[in-house]
Amino acid sequence: MEIAKIGAGANGGSNRLTLTDADRDARELFRSWAAAAGCSVKIDAVGNMFARRPGRDNTLPPVVIGSHLDTQPTGGRFDGVLGVLAGLEVVRSLNDQNVETLRPIEVANWTNEEGARFSPGMLGSAAFAGVYSQNFVHSRTDESGKIFGEELQRIGFAGDVRIGGRPLRAYFELHIEQGPVLEAEHFDIGVVTHAQGLLWLDIDIVGFEAHAGTTPMKRRRDALVAAASIVAAVSDIAVSFSPNGVGTVGQLRVHPGSRNVVPGAVSMTVEFRHPSEGTLTDMMARLQAAIDQISTQCRVTTRCTEVLRYAPVEFDRECVDIIRAAAERFGYSHRDIVSGAAHDACYIARIAPTGMIFCPCVDGISHNEREDIRPEWATAGANVLLDAVLGMAEV
Ligand SMILES: [Zn+2]
Repeated sequence: MEIAKIGAGANGGSNRLTLTDADRDARELFRSWAAAAGCSVKIDAVGNMFARRPGRDNTLPPVVIGSHLDTQPTGGRFDGVLGVLAGLEVVRSLNDQNVETLRPIEVANWTNEEGARFSPGMLGSAAFAGVYSQNFVHSRTDESGKIFGEELQRIGFAGDVRIGGRPLRAYFELHIEQGPVLEAEHFDIGVVTHAQGLLWLDIDIVGFEAHAGTTPMKRRRDALVAAASIVAAVSDIAVSFSPNGVGTVGQLRVHPGSRNVVPGAVSMTVEFRHPSEGTLTDMMARLQAAIDQISTQCRVTTRCTEVLRYAPVEFDRECVDIIRAAAERFGYSHRDIVSGAAHDACYIARIAPTGMIFCPCVDGISHNEREDIRPEWATAGANVLLDAVLGMAEV
């Protein structure tokens, strides 16, 4: 609730876009809390933060807990924040009980998980996993042309620690489900076994600008009419692969955007998600066929560019088992679940044994200021997290 006051939204949520003043203030608060819990805090060259609680043998790779403090522009109070602060709560609980672990434990705040200001999302965790170079991350720009590297400097979080390149014993992330399944089925804990694959496309449609009063309908090359058909095609394709397949057009830019001009150009985004890589490819192929047909009909030219594709993730068997056993031991009801959203854990899974814990959220609402959870759900998630971390920190 304290973090949510930083960049508080009008409707009870938060607006802490990456590398804004609000993001800086949340980072500072997390740093001060971590220091008060006896952690040393290090920051790497893309702004990832690591709060470290020493173990008995500090030469051993740490167990890392993490998530993100940045939010969507009309984001909720728990997406990401829960995972970071539950990590801090694990550290505080170990302090309270005077528990010393063999391995050090670190709590990570990954930079730019949301991808709302700088694209793509999960830049910090991806860079840590060696997917993107420091230069690639630093050169990202936001809509107003501001540069990631300069904004990172501006808020004082361009750290001197080299990005990644070190082994982790295990990585755990507690996150709200961001979907309705756990609450609807009355489960306390989701044991995340897989994460959906994702495909992002940019579509640029070029027609011809014309006078809206004098140009007969049959002579028009209206880019927005073509775009409307493509939006419908994306939805139809996703429906035909449901329930696992989903598809969304989230952005549409119409040029020149004048009431009495036939739109000459439209650029739009498309995303598809599915837990099978092969099906994602099928969805893409069907969209391309639809685009070809629509473009001919509307006499427009359409270019479709793949911006991001990432493969479905299978989480580490040992980490998944340890999470399931922890839920069992506490007597929490639990089920295995596939993550519909991408998370930092999906990238860290490439370089370290990784597990994810879901807790329910009210009505499955997320990426919305109304996002909410019950305290007992957070407690159950944090207890399972603590148990899983302790299990890995002693071996
Ligand atoms: Zn998140």
